[in-house]
Amino acid sequence: MRIFDPHIHMTSRTTGDYERMHAAGVRAVVEPAFWLGQPRTHVGSFLDYFDALLGWEPYRAAQHGIRHHCALALNPKEANDPRCAAVLAELPRYLLKDGVVAVGEVGYDSMTAEEERAFEAQLALAQENDLPVLVHTPHRDKTAGTRRTLDVVRAAGIPSGRVLVDHLNELTVGMVADSGCWMGFSIYPDTKMDPDRMVTLLKEYGTDRMLVNSAADWGRSDPLKTREVADVMLAAGFGEDDVDRVLWRNPVAFYGQSGRLDVETASEAGPDYAGNTIRRG
Ligand SMILES: [Zn+2]
Repeated sequence: MRIFDPHIHMTSRTTGDYERMHAAGVRAVVEPAFWLGQPRTHVGSFLDYFDALLGWEPYRAAQHGIRHHCALALNPKEANDPRCAAVLAELPRYLLKDGVVAVGEVGYDSMTAEEERAFEAQLALAQENDLPVLVHTPHRDKTAGTRRTLDVVRAAGIPSGRVLVDHLNELTVGMVADSGCWMGFSIYPDTKMDPDRMVTLLKEYGTDRMLVNSAADWGRSDPLKTREVADVMLAAGFGEDDVDRVLWRNPVAFYGQSGRLDVETASEAGPDYAGNTIRRG
C-alpha cells in the first residue's frame, strides 16, 4: 500500500514518526505552512520557516524514504497581525521554487476583514503562479465559514479543480462537492473526523476529488491516521484500487497540477540510509 499524506506538519514531528510513517506505507507528504503556536513578530521568521520547509524537512524525509513537498502562504491566524502581513510581498519569489506545489494554507480562522484580504491576495498569487491552493476552513462556525470560503473562491475566478477545501465534515462536504473543489478531511484522534465517519462519507460521496490527511502537528494528532482510514476502507468492502485512488492517486492528481510534483519513484522508495546520521549540536 502506498500513501500520500496531502496535509501534515512534519516540522513538529519527530524522526521516529518518519520511521513509523514509512513502515505504514507513507511515501509522500505535502507540508503546508501554518501557525507555529508561538506568534511570529516579524517577516524574517516566516522566511526561515519557508526555507526549512524547502531544505531541511525534505532532507529529513528523504532519509526515511518519504518524498516531501510544501505549500507556502501566510496562514489565516497570523494574517490578523500587521507585523506578519508584509510576508505577502516576499511570497512571490518563494512560490517560484521547485519544492512548492501549492499556495497554502490560506482561508479563514476568525473570519476577519484582514483574513479575507490575505485570502484574496493569495488566491491571486496562486493564479499568477499557476499553482493549486489548499484552503483551511475555520474550526468554529464551520458551516458559515465554509460557505463564505466558497464565495471568495468563486469571486476570485480560480478554477474549482485547482482548489482543495480542507478540514471538512458531514455538515460541509455537500456544498464543497457541489462547488467542484477538491474535498479534504483531517482525521484526528478525538475531534473532527475519525476513520469510521470518513469511510461512511466515502460510501456516500464516492472517491472522486476526495483527499484524506492526518494534519498532524504539535497538537493532539497522529501521522498514521491515513493508514487507519485505508484499513477501515478495506474492512468496509472498498477494494485496493479505491484505497490507492483516495490515498495516492488523488493527491498526486491535485498537487500534480503544479507541474512540480516529483513522486514517480517514491512509491517504491526505501529509506536512504546513506549518511543518515543527522548530527545534532
Ligand atoms: Zn494544517
